[in-house]
This record gives sequence, structure tokens and C-alpha cells, in this order.
Amino acid sequence: MVVVDPLLAGRLADVDARIDDAARRAGRDPGDVTRIVVTKFHPVSLIEELAVLGVRDVGENRQQELSGKVAELHSMREPPLRWHFIGQAQANKARAIRAAASVVHSIDRERIADAFDAAGQADGVDAAPLLDVLIQVNLTDDPARGGVRPDELEALATHVRGCRTLALRGVMAVAPLGEEPAAAFARLAGYSERLRTVAPDADWISAGMTADFPAAISYGATHLRIGSAITGPRPARD
Ligand SMILES: *Cc1c(COP(=O)(O)O)cnc(C)c1O
Repeated sequence: MVVVDPLLAGRLADVDARIDDAARRAGRDPGDVTRIVVTKFHPVSLIEELAVLGVRDVGENRQQELSGKVAELHSMREPPLRWHFIGQAQANKARAIRAAASVVHSIDRERIADAFDAAGQADGVDAAPLLDVLIQVNLTDDPARGGVRPDELEALATHVRGCRTLALRGVMAVAPLGEEPAAAFARLAGYSERLRTVAPDADWISAGMTADFPAAISYGATHLRIGSAITGPRPARD
């Protein structure tokens, strides 16, 4: 039996109230905002508790941890979880990630898009469900951070649109350190508009973490990736 930690339930309710509040202040319907709980470093037992609390969308940033948790939770079929892969992807992990996740937020170069597409075609194009993907945009000047350079966004989007087993849904970004998150999210909203000149339906904006999700909501975020505000501090990775 799953025993739910009342502190966890309290933090989740508190974050959800803040999401509602920020959405209403922005004149948006809170129902248009998907709250993804980032569970990296935390044990499967925490995900079971979250599921009891009604959480359906969970996020992980490493393939091995994602695959391991999905396998462990496999028996817990009802109700199903939607797994979001939010970390930097490597081409040689694409097949494993695709097998475990429904959404990949971190497409940032053609090679990665092609690897996910090839992983979908391996099982037959018509057999595999489309994989929802977002293009990660780098909001810093540091090429070592994940994400495509903003001036390469449309070219990458056009490439992803040509991948038969991928469904391009929108943009994703992490607010840079040392900058007002609102300014960064305002730029991201502009990149979302630019993306939609190439892919009119790709209107998801994945942005907003523990420290900055209310600002992300006011700039149109549709998918929040919230970890520690809900889960509590992350344990050290063993
Ligand atoms: C860990 C992580 C988050 C969640 O971070 P918190 O600050 O704990 O909310 C969101 N997005 C990405 C890409 C992450 O790696």
C-alpha cells in the first residue's frame, strides 16, 4: 500500500494554488497549463505517492534513470503516467528514451531529431505512435548550455517537420542564471511565435521551474517543469 507523505501533498497543493493564481492574474485558464513534476534523483516510491495524489505528468532528465523507473513502475498500469524527457539527449540513447517517454522536450539539433525519428521507424512507421517533441532554445550566449541558437530555430523546425514519426509541439527553455526570468521568458514567447510561422500548431511553451514558474505562466508557458518545490530537496545521486 502506498502511504502518502502529508508534506508532499501539502507542497503539491501549494504549487497548484500558485499556478492557478498566476494563470488567473495573466488572464489565462489554469486548465491550459500542464504541471509536470520533475522526479529526478527521487525513488520510485515518491512517484507512486504522486500518482495517488493525481499527478499524471512526470519528468526525468537522464535516460538510465527514466528507463529504470518506467520498468519498475510497469506493474502500476492504472492510471498511466505520461513521461517527459527533459534532459540533454544523446543520439545513442534515443531508442531507449523513445521506448519510455511520450514527450521529448530537448531536441536541439538535426542529428538528435534524426535519431528519435529512426528509433520510431525501427518498429515500422505506421505501428509507432508519433513522438511529441519540443525544440529546446538556448537563451544564453554559452553554446555549452543545451538548446539551439535562436537564429537556427526555423531551420531546425523545418527539419523536424520532415521527420515522419515526430510531432513538433513547441519550444522549451531554461531561464539563464543571472538574468531576470521574465526577460528571458519574454524572448522565449517571441521564439514561440517564430516557430509557429513554420509549424502553426506547435504552440506549446515548456518553461518555468521551482524558482520562476509564476513568471513563465505570465509569458505564456503551457508546460511547467517543477521539481523541488513539490518533491522537496533532491537527495544526492548515489
Ligand atoms: C531539474 C530540472 C527541472 C526542475 O528543477 P527545480 O528547480 O527543482 O524545479 C526543470 N527542468 C529541467 C530541464 C531540469 O533538469
